[in-house]
Amino acid sequence: SSEGKGPNSRTTQKQKGKERQRPREEPILADVTTPSDDSEDSAAEAVRNAWKEKTAHLLKNLPTGIDEGAAKQILNEIVVQGDEVHWSDIAGLDIAKKSLKEAVVYPFLRPDLFMGLREPARGMLLFGPPGTGKTMLARAVATESKSTFFSISASSLTSKYLGESEKLVRALFTLAKALAPSIIFVDEIDSLLSARSGSGEHETTRRIKTEFLIQWSDLQRAAAGREQSEKEKERGDASRVLVLAATNLPWAIDEAARRRFVRRQYIPLPEDETRGTQLRTLLGHQKHSLDDADIQKLVQLTDGFSGSDITALAKDAAMGPLRSLGEALLHMSMDQIRPIQFEDFEASLVNIRPSVSKQGLKEFEDWAKAFGERG
Ligand code: ADP
Repeated sequence: SSEGKGPNSRTTQKQKGKERQRPREEPILADVTTPSDDSEDSAAEAVRNAWKEKTAHLLKNLPTGIDEGAAKQILNEIVVQGDEVHWSDIAGLDIAKKSLKEAVVYPFLRPDLFMGLREPARGMLLFGPPGTGKTMLARAVATESKSTFFSISASSLTSKYLGESEKLVRALFTLAKALAPSIIFVDEIDSLLSARSGSGEHETTRRIKTEFLIQWSDLQRAAAGREQSEKEKERGDASRVLVLAATNLPWAIDEAARRRFVRRQYIPLPEDETRGTQLRTLLGHQKHSLDDADIQKLVQLTDGFSGSDITALAKDAAMGPLRSLGEALLHMSMDQIRPIQFEDFEASLVNIRPSVSKQGLKEFEDWAKAFGERG
């Protein structure tokens, strides 16, 4: 559910907009000291140039066995930069946030404090219904831990990149170490680590799975410290690379692969309070006439909705004021458009329904009880 963006997207309008929306602790002071857009642009350019230099050097000095084409593909398509996600962009999920801070963010920022018994896990699984913020969480972890973010969907490894996938997997782990701290985010991990893909039914998928598990084990071994040779250390910091995976089908992952994820975090549907928060945030920058009681009614009406269902609902309702206008909207000024109202949501609720059924939800809860941490 996330797409690779090149380094050039660092200062998109969207991101600048986001920066402005975020409340500042000392608004008056902050306004005086906020850099102008010019210096923001030149700072972004400096970051871009540093990145170019670093990656050019890396590509020139790839270890033997690492394909240059695959490495370039990773840097261009898999590394995500710009359009950052922060904790505050994600409604609710406090337990998951806390657990990710402890498991990844703090160890990455203060590796000296997290050694020996406190050695962080090398793999963490986020599971739960679709559209509940797993991808957003992974991106926020990368932002908050100042890590390089590699994002790949496992199904693209077995389809789009098929034939190149083993090379790509090797290049992925090599670059993650070289550009550490790094998060390797693998969406739809079930399609790579399912019991079926090991059965020999799909020979190529099995090979990709094997390569992935080998690379991941190497990482765990190297991170354990003593065994990381001087040569390996030169090539990067294996102790600050984490595989963060997401799935809507946790039961499809085979048992051996499941055990490698020491931490398994359930990402449930949003609670009442969280849906309220999300609705308020979504309406925050729009002209609307909903009061607290209306939001409360919507909270009740959206029981069972995921975060992405709520977003879809609010987007559809926001079209309400324009829909009734037809072509006339082309000639109207902004303040002639009526505010979004509760009835727009009511109308949208006819078409926008929760994407997870009660039965589907129960399967997640059962799996979470058996194998997961709640959050
Ligand atoms: P997942 O990876 O769990 O399928 P995503 O993180 O890709 O879900 O979320 C999809 C979209 O749904 C997001 O881009 C966002 O608009 C919305 N969304 C989902 N969960 C939340 C949340 N907790 N807070 C805010 N928005 C959310």
